[in-house]
Amino acid sequence: MPSAKHDLIVIGAGPGGYVAAIRGAQLGLDVACIEKVPELGGTCLRIGCIPSKALLESSERYATLKGGLDEHGIKLGRVTLDLPAMHKRREKVVSTLTRGVASLFKKNKITRYAGHGRLDGPGRVVVEQEDGPIELEAPHVIVATGSRSKPLAGVELDGDRIGTSTEALTYPKVPKHLVVIGAGAIGLELGSVWARLGADVTVLEYFDRILPGMDSELAKDALRLFKKQGLKFHLGARVTAAKRKGAGCVVEAEGLEPIACDRVLLAVGREPNTEGLGLEKVGIEVDRLGRIPVDEDFATGVPGLFAIGDVIEGPMLAHKAEEEGVACVEKIVNGFGHVPYEAIPNIVYTHPEIASVGRSEDELEEAGIPYKAGRFPFMANGRAKALGETDGRVKVLAHADTDRILGVHVIGPRAGDLIAEAAVAIEYAASSEDLGRAVHAHPTLAEAMKEAALAVEGRAIHM
Ligand code: FAD
Ligand code: NAD
Repeated sequence: MPSAKHDLIVIGAGPGGYVAAIRGAQLGLDVACIEKVPELGGTCLRIGCIPSKALLESSERYATLKGGLDEHGIKLGRVTLDLPAMHKRREKVVSTLTRGVASLFKKNKITRYAGHGRLDGPGRVVVEQEDGPIELEAPHVIVATGSRSKPLAGVELDGDRIGTSTEALTYPKVPKHLVVIGAGAIGLELGSVWARLGADVTVLEYFDRILPGMDSELAKDALRLFKKQGLKFHLGARVTAAKRKGAGCVVEAEGLEPIACDRVLLAVGREPNTEGLGLEKVGIEVDRLGRIPVDEDFATGVPGLFAIGDVIEGPMLAHKAEEEGVACVEKIVNGFGHVPYEAIPNIVYTHPEIASVGRSEDELEEAGIPYKAGRFPFMANGRAKALGETDGRVKVLAHADTDRILGVHVIGPRAGDLIAEAAVAIEYAASSEDLGRAVHAHPTLAEAMKEAALAVEGRAIHM
């Protein structure tokens, strides 16, 4: 078998793997990256963050033109949907970005191996390439193999009518009735896309709330707004089956009559990719959720073997994977590196957007941590009024004794961009007073953040 030696081998070219590879090259390592599919960028660029946001943007524009401009005094003729053109744009956005990663690899002189990577012992990886296997050796190997959609017992995935997010990104026609299983980020984002384009969308959720894990006050606001947009919800509905029936499908959930529909989107979470990775060969046992156990240095316990991103513990987010990629390589090369886990923002790109960083109010209550809350509604923000986007609010949670910001939660226009300021504030241990005293330009949506921080001490100006 042919062989090659490198300083660092990365298995998987998603946001965790490709960023680790680039950072390694920047730090002077001879880096190899193994990817089994032809395009670089992983779930995020190919079938996740990027194509879903492209469709969210297009469908939001369609919905706005369809009915959201009257109050601005703009009258339009008949607005029609060209779904193939919308998909073409999505594909172009994706291919531009995946090609961009390929050119970054070239620029950074990273060696690409196309094929499935398998651990063959400490410091050894075999790549099953199209033209035969090759054995690679390196003192450091990072596993960044990511995750895939989790199946659900009784749900008969057929890669077409009953599918996952991957199918829901490419439906050739707007479904008449789409049933979404799971009211998490994927279910709500892709459910919103198809509802805006004209589908009846029914969301079935096991818990008695949507977005479990996010601040419950925001989740309640969100549920009310999604219902106003026409999405239907059955909460406390555990789905037990989804099958093809005639030309359509039928979905069964505890406590509900069977629901007939023409498409089903299964979105009940994701599971790590460790199949055929050779973990048994190096003596690694995955945890009960199928993840690779690592310590605070991302080390697996096998000499020179590390793991990052969706394949290890923590939120399955692209920016979490990227930060771990950078920190892991910096620890290997420089001996130090850091991911501020308490300051990782989480955003759901619906309309309005929902964004959180730090602890939720529910978590603070459960942990018995004394806190004060400051809230400010977009209704009282001048820029939001001008935009005609006044739904939602900002909530700042600060420690009752020290005033240190513990969590920030936003539902409203551009919440995903606004949360960046809160992430920096939490990372640098800012107080609500720091945030409230910082000058925010007028008129901006960010002023709602300042006002919510001031509201912690009951001194918001415009409320
Ligand atoms: P991945 O991106 O999954 O990449 C792993 C790569 O490894 C893949 O390319 C895979 O082909 C390759 N691979 C696997 N096994 C092998 C092997 N043995 N040999 C060679 N190659 C292998 N996150 C956000 O932060 N924001 C969002 O808006 C967002 N939207 C999403 C929307 C959808 C529909 C989905 C499905 C996910 C979304 N996510 C989002 C989650 C995000 O995509 C993941 O958290 C992120 O991609 C994880 O990065 P990763 O590098 O760990 O793994
Ligand atoms: P999720 O874990 O966020 O939500 C899954 C939902 O399905 C939960 O609410 C759960 O209670 C529900 N569920 C589970 N079993 C059920 C059953 N039998 N019947 C009814 N409901 C059931 O998972 P997801 O939405 O599939 O997303 C997967 C991952 O991808 C998440 O970790 C998420 O962070 C990531 N993602 C992130 C973004 C973003 O950052 N904007 C977007 C999409 C995906």
